[in-house]
Amino acid sequence: MSSQRQSPAVRPPGFVYRETKGGILRRGGSFALLCEEIPLHKLAEQYGTPLYVYSATMIRERYEAFDAAFRDVPHTICYSVKANSNLTVLRMLARKGCGFDVVSGGELERVLAADRKAAKQVVFSGVGKTREELTAALKAGIMLFNVESESELWALAECAGRLRKTAPVALRVNPDVAAETHPYISTGLRKHKFGVPIHEARALYAKASGARYLKVRGVSVHIGSQITDIAPFGEAMARVADLVGELRLDGHNIDYIDAGGGLGIAYEKPSSRGFSADVAAYARALADPLRRLDVRLLLEPGRSIIGPAGILLTSVIYRKQNDGKRFLVVDAAMNDLIRPALYGAYHEIIPVTQSVNPAAKSEVTDIVGPVCETGDFFARDRELPAVEEGELLAILDAGAYGMVLASNYNTRPRPAEVLVTGKSAKIIRRREKVSDLLRAEL
Ligand SMILES: *Cc1c(COP(=O)(O)O)cnc(C)c1O
Repeated sequence: MSSQRQSPAVRPPGFVYRETKGGILRRGGSFALLCEEIPLHKLAEQYGTPLYVYSATMIRERYEAFDAAFRDVPHTICYSVKANSNLTVLRMLARKGCGFDVVSGGELERVLAADRKAAKQVVFSGVGKTREELTAALKAGIMLFNVESESELWALAECAGRLRKTAPVALRVNPDVAAETHPYISTGLRKHKFGVPIHEARALYAKASGARYLKVRGVSVHIGSQITDIAPFGEAMARVADLVGELRLDGHNIDYIDAGGGLGIAYEKPSSRGFSADVAAYARALADPLRRLDVRLLLEPGRSIIGPAGILLTSVIYRKQNDGKRFLVVDAAMNDLIRPALYGAYHEIIPVTQSVNPAAKSEVTDIVGPVCETGDFFARDRELPAVEEGELLAILDAGAYGMVLASNYNTRPRPAEVLVTGKSAKIIRRREKVSDLLRAEL
């Protein structure tokens, strides 16, 4: 077997090619793409396309690698629910002892539906928490409120007072640290809406500690998402560590430092040293400034846990050419996976069946969906092994910010989701029907 023909884009151990001979595959010999032990074309036959497919083993292994990287410091991982909020995924992580970061009352309900007992490991972030959401979180007894403004602080004090329950509070500070990422997902600069300016934090902590039903417990920070340069994380942490020193001198108890999420993944090509090494470097950058502080570190990874563990499986509906420019029109669209349209994001795209013949031809093509928007594309001028109408493509690294951002634009029902463990696949969200969409309308 000519192993150099294996696509470097595959994300093991979840997604790998295996050589097959003849059978249902038209071209005598070929590589078939598998999720764990299941050929993806089988999943497409059974569940249809577009289809989100996740590797349970990969989710578990990435969680474990993340956890192991921080073994030297007391820590709690609070998986960021917004990256992928499927109940089965949440339940799986809860069983491993994972906590959760939620940014809405709806996400809190999901966590509670997945596991009632998970509430005590929930942190609640977000700039616009309503009184209803704050009250629900107080009733659930969550671990920490990451408060993002003075107004929110007083709203929380009011809700807590009404329930006669003490709210555990951290202020999300904005460290004014620039992180190299897409401007829409950078959050740690003064000009962004998130958090309170770090130099105003002390005054606000003083106010918080004077409120009867608030209890200061920590400091929180989150500088953005898809950050692949580790340095800004360390810089933000150093500023937070200085603040913690000052707050302790002011008489506050600081038990938690919440470092947020944001560790990026390698969309363009898999990291050569592997996830364990990447996350170990991240852990060192965070842990260094905290060395002498005696706090519990809270971490809110989303993308780095689940991004590479999921793909979007899609079928080619048509091949077409406009004045020589090639297009593959596929049955998935921007409503199913909006990242390319929203951020110009890159996703590796690979055929589910590849010829073993090293001379097999490739072509340069756009891969687009059926939605009536020019922004409805998955890739532009991408070199790809030539695929025919009816063949399947896998859009990689779609586990995070994929299904959660799906919409019904163009009255397109959202895809089904399937979770694979070894040789078994189970549907974890059924495909939506048009009747589901019409039901809520009068
Ligand atoms: C989005 C978000 C995260 C998760 O970010 P990732 O880049 O997916 O790790 C964590 N914390 C907060 C407050 C967030 O808004």
